[in-house]
Amino acid sequence: METLRVENVNKSFGALEAVKDLSLAVPPGTVYGFLGPNGAGKTTTIRMIMEIILPDSGQILVNGRRNTSSDALDRVGYLPEERGVYRKMKVREALEFFAELKGMRRRTHGPKIDAWMERFEMTSVRDKKLEELSKGNQQKIQFLTTVIHEPDLIILDEPFMGLDPLNADLVKEVILEQKARGAAIVFSTHLMESAEKLCDAICLINKGQKVLDGEVRSVKRNFGRNHVALGYEGKPDFLVELKNHGLVERYNDSGNHVEIHLRNAASPQKLLAAAMQNVEVLRFEVVEPSLHEIFIATVKEN
Ligand code: ATP
Repeated sequence: METLRVENVNKSFGALEAVKDLSLAVPPGTVYGFLGPNGAGKTTTIRMIMEIILPDSGQILVNGRRNTSSDALDRVGYLPEERGVYRKMKVREALEFFAELKGMRRRTHGPKIDAWMERFEMTSVRDKKLEELSKGNQQKIQFLTTVIHEPDLIILDEPFMGLDPLNADLVKEVILEQKARGAAIVFSTHLMESAEKLCDAICLINKGQKVLDGEVRSVKRNFGRNHVALGYEGKPDFLVELKNHGLVERYNDSGNHVEIHLRNAASPQKLLAAAMQNVEVLRFEVVEPSLHEIFIATVKEN
């Protein structure tokens, strides 16, 4: 049975159809990326899963039960997009409060909270108010409140926002541990690189509608192997010409690295020859498209 099932869900705000006939399923032990451009309807969907707002039609099941049952929601951990709630609470108090709110007993949560605080290097600030902590540290605590009770479903709205690389790695490590424990993790992000590395499956929505979903591996495979990663030194002006001549469909240049999408049936050899004439080639590899490229191409098409 899937941990989360969203079935034909619709939600409008006045005339705006924020979510249209959305269905998705997340099995246990899966990291599921919920992706889409600004305003696509991700947070609205997450709020419906959390029963903060109700769908106009369709249903949402957690562990096979309607999410309207409080038992179902006790098995969920949620990191909302807005941070900084419970600002006046002290660090340890906040963790205790959430553990107890989600049904943990004092005897069991005490040692667990201590272990988490040590691992997240928060022991020295245990008696500080949340509002006195740096934004990143507030977020670490808020993240801990979502996993402390070892829920079956963990929903993380932009979990890496504002975290330095060390803390982002720590959060990533915990996400993978939760997955290994059998939890289903749904996370929304605009960082395609973290989605690419972490997700087993993704759902891409645009204007409230699902436009792409599936296992990351098959999403990439279906997008074709007509992508080239080119590392270079020099000026890649020749790409404009290749685009005009129909060899290159589009490209995404980052200054010394460019991801190139060739036209169907175009030969990478021709591209390599042109590149060698115009820039110093440091890397040339036929690759699967990145999620970044897939995101941009799919959203533009829809
Ligand atoms: P972002 O990546 O920018 O956070 P999102 O995918 O999470 O975007 P939502 O916040 O779900 O997008 O918004 C979807 C659409 O619904 C937007 O057009 C937004 O303005 C609208 N919307 C969201 N909540 C409300 C509300 N309470 N009342 C009216 N419109 C809303």
